[in-house]
Amino acid sequence: MIAVEEALKVVLGKCAPLPVVSVDAAAVSLGLTLAEDAVCTLDSPPFAKSMMDGYAIRSSDPAERTVIEEVLAGQTPRKSVGPGEATRIMTGAPLPEGADAVAVIERTDLLSDGRVRVLDRLSAGKNVLPRGAEMMRGDVVFKAGTRLRPGEIGVLAGMGKATVSVHGRPSVAVVSTGDEIVEVWEQPGPGQIRNSNGRMLLAQAARAGATPRAIGIARDNEPHLRTMIDEALAADIVVLSGGVSAGKVDLAPAVLASMGVEQLVNHVRMKPGKPLYFGVKPRASRPAALVFGLPGNPVSSYVCFELFVRPAIAKLMGRPEGSCSVDAALADEVQYPTDRPTYHPARLEASAHGGAVRLVPWLGSADLRGLAAGNALALLTPGEGAHPRGTMVKVLQLDDFN
Ligand code: AMP
Ligand code: MG
Repeated sequence: MIAVEEALKVVLGKCAPLPVVSVDAAAVSLGLTLAEDAVCTLDSPPFAKSMMDGYAIRSSDPAERTVIEEVLAGQTPRKSVGPGEATRIMTGAPLPEGADAVAVIERTDLLSDGRVRVLDRLSAGKNVLPRGAEMMRGDVVFKAGTRLRPGEIGVLAGMGKATVSVHGRPSVAVVSTGDEIVEVWEQPGPGQIRNSNGRMLLAQAARAGATPRAIGIARDNEPHLRTMIDEALAADIVVLSGGVSAGKVDLAPAVLASMGVEQLVNHVRMKPGKPLYFGVKPRASRPAALVFGLPGNPVSSYVCFELFVRPAIAKLMGRPEGSCSVDAALADEVQYPTDRPTYHPARLEASAHGGAVRLVPWLGSADLRGLAAGNALALLTPGEGAHPRGTMVKVLQLDDFN
């Protein structure tokens, strides 16, 4: 049995960023990683622009000005603003020649003779975004390796990038195993339970940025397992739930071996999730498929996915290796004797004095509802289990969408 860190090293050692593809720089690129620098080809804004509705003025002039023109966003000023003059201007319109500031409409009075009085003394540049203030031609706006979030997608649109080069999005095929498992829409008979893991793991794959593929439920017999795994092996990553422990029908490791999957990890020192399996299936013209066998108890499956599959997905997507783990103080005293490092469902809360973490009530690896009440996993070290309030523990954040 190896430690979590060691197992993760083995997994990541088999992961390489997927080949570079060109995609629409639109919502479909969300979460993908740029494979090249994004370089600005046009200053933004392309002209000095008014940030307010009001009057474009020369800041050093006396208060009252003659209005010479009106410019809406999308129009180009035809007149330059001379001494004692002003141009009525709207947000987003180019600042006319001669003007150096914009007086907001609310702080002006229109006089009976048609002139305008500006109520405040403004400094040059007030309410004006200078040309190129956001970005200049030639700037590297995003470096290769940047993950695309909605903000980046908006900036790329502003830069006129219709497509971008990114690392591909990995596919994750999920196979649930077990004779006792029935579909979500079925009424479980005696001894049967519904397939929680299938949908949960597909959702975890989607959250991690991968494309989820539902393969279905494999029965605990060799031919059926083979058929389902064979279908799943078309994906970059295969995730099996169940069938990897020491039970009589835990057939997955043997079936995988017979299909040419090389086992690299089997059993990890952790709770929940000890029987974790990881292997690779070499393929002729593509990188090897990564195969994870997660123990079937729902919380074990969930935790193993977050600890091992999610980082693998991140690496395939070309993201720099990192950790979503933070240190936080226990909000309450905890009594939890355990023989293995334990990832306990918890709730991480920001407080004025830094993060605090509170364990949520949890009945163990079958208690998915308990897990769902949290937003994090707190790592409890093995031992007698007395953790006083304020003890600093490692916390894995789960609800990070970016
Ligand atoms: P296994 O790892 O196959 O021995 O399964 C361990 C436990 O997890 C058993 O109690 C299973 O009934 C349960 N289990 C396995 N697969 C699923 C699933 N897809 N959804 C919910 N529970 C499951
Ligand atoms: Mg089973």
